Amino acid sequence: MTHDPTDQYLPRGEFSFLSLSIGAMIRVLYYRLRGMRPVRVGHCKQCGACCRNLHLFHRGKWIQTRRQFKRMIAECPEYERFEIMDDPGMLLLFSCRFLSEDNICQDYENRPSACLEYPTLDLHLRSKVLYPNCGYSFKMVKDFGKTMKAVAHIQEQAEDKEDADE
Ligand code: SF4
Ligand code: SF4
Repeated sequence: MTHDPTDQYLPRGEFSFLSLSIGAMIRVLYYRLRGMRPVRVGHCKQCGACCRNLHLFHRGKWIQTRRQFKRMIAECPEYERFEIMDDPGMLLLFSCRFLSEDNICQDYENRPSACLEYPTLDLHLRSKVLYPNCGYSFKMVKDFGKTMKAVAHIQEQAEDKEDADE
């Protein structure tokens, strides 16, 4: 999505659980039960791949039909910049008219939230892959909060044992 590496919005690396689709929530819960958490890392290399081939998400659903896309534009006119490239019968594939030939976003200041937030955790969990040259990736990290709770629990047990030994 041709992000400036100094962009204040990126990389965020953290995501709101409530913004995820049901399928993605289930996967995240599965990871959490194992004390792990997916986190986005890296930076945009401005290859433009995600501006030429992207899926759109609106009101909690991926856009699958031209009708849904029309409704999306009516509510969010900034998405008019996207044109349908393919309609394979599942998710519509879009491309952005504002990407220059040398991969520069020609409306960078006003780019819509789909661009600001790319690649979302939901997209990653859904497709499991990013574009081969994308500078972002998702890493599984140990959940710090869960680890700290476990450490506190061990400390409490040790203190209880000390009290019992006295
Ligand atoms: S507005 Fe278009 S060119 Fe700019 S970042 Fe978004 S998809 Fe890419
Ligand atoms: S595919 Fe990745 S590296 Fe390429 S423009 Fe999009 S976010 Fe940047």
